[in-house]
Amino acid sequence: MKKWLPFLELGPLHQQISNELEKKFKEVLRAGIFSAGKEVALLEKNTGKLLKVPYAIPCSNGTDALELALAALGIGYGDEIIVPALTWISTAEAVVNMGAKPVFCDVDQWGLLDVSEAEKLITNRTKGLIPVHLYGKMVEMKGLLNFAHQHQLKVIEDAAQAFGAFQQGKSAGTFGDIGCFSFYPTKNLGALGEAGLVITKSNDLAERIRLMLNHGQSERDIHELVGRNSKIDTLQAAFLNVKLRHFTSWQNIRKRLASLYLEELKEMKALQLPHHILEADHTAHLFTIRSDQRDALKAYLKNQGIGTAVHYPASLPKTKAFYNSSSFPRAEEISRTTLSLPLHPHLKEEEVIFICSKIKDFFNRSKKEGL
Ligand SMILES: *Cc1c(COP(=O)(O)O)cnc(C)c1O
Repeated sequence: MKKWLPFLELGPLHQQISNELEKKFKEVLRAGIFSAGKEVALLEKNTGKLLKVPYAIPCSNGTDALELALAALGIGYGDEIIVPALTWISTAEAVVNMGAKPVFCDVDQWGLLDVSEAEKLITNRTKGLIPVHLYGKMVEMKGLLNFAHQHQLKVIEDAAQAFGAFQQGKSAGTFGDIGCFSFYPTKNLGALGEAGLVITKSNDLAERIRLMLNHGQSERDIHELVGRNSKIDTLQAAFLNVKLRHFTSWQNIRKRLASLYLEELKEMKALQLPHHILEADHTAHLFTIRSDQRDALKAYLKNQGIGTAVHYPASLPKTKAFYNSSSFPRAEEISRTTLSLPLHPHLKEEEVIFICSKIKDFFNRSKKEGL
């Protein structure tokens, strides 16, 4: 066993495919095309096919993907958008950056936007909502869409953690008006830098998004509207095309390791295990457990050489950036109790067993000490 088991290590993961990546880098270097070009076109085709969606538009990162989605739907000053209180900051940040107001909604016991709580947040300014498929687990989209239709709300799915999740045979991001993905290096499909993707079934929205992410240009020097620069790097598109070849087998490893964790930890009454992580509508992006003794457990595991992470230590309304005095009890409880264990495609089965044995040791010890 290694001395230190980090939460996530991107070096060894890419070591396995370094020949393919280096070959691709040389190709791009030789071609001398670093913006747009055939690798970007290929990424569009590859992701569109995998996600079974007509328009898949690569862009600079997941946060820009959300901003492009909001702008394409005409959301801006004076509009209110409902967002979950527990998510990565981008979800609410994008709303503010587009001039609109994020309205925080508490989450359900699994950390997903609670539609039954959203009802009381509706005002005549509410224009849309952004469900987040947190940890890789999709929000139940049928119920959410019913709610959205009832109130004539636009739906942008923040699927940054859900690339490869399917509910009733449909990919995350294809239920709402627009779906947004991130290829940040730590995501299930990560670039070797920053990148993102916007998907939609609407030809009109796809056209607007394409224009907007490239200075409103329909062709060189013809500017149809005031846009921005949110283009993907050709090099990142090329690396993603290489990594996509391995995506399915890496996902299978994640699922196998997740199932081993569940098996090893199933007797642990003191822990709450992740919800439906083996189902098709969960990418097993993060393996999150919950415990009232989270901080002590995290410190104990660190001492035993095991790295863990917390997603997220504060709900967004309790960060300085968004401070809001109302209470969001479930989001706050999850941020106090949640712990993410290592789960990535080059983690070994014996390492999972080792991690679980240390978790059991922690709880046996605290029982003995009467904690
Ligand atoms: C990673 C992430 C984003 C943002 O993606 P970037 O590519 O880092 O900008 C947005 N929302 C969620 C839920 C994320 O996890």
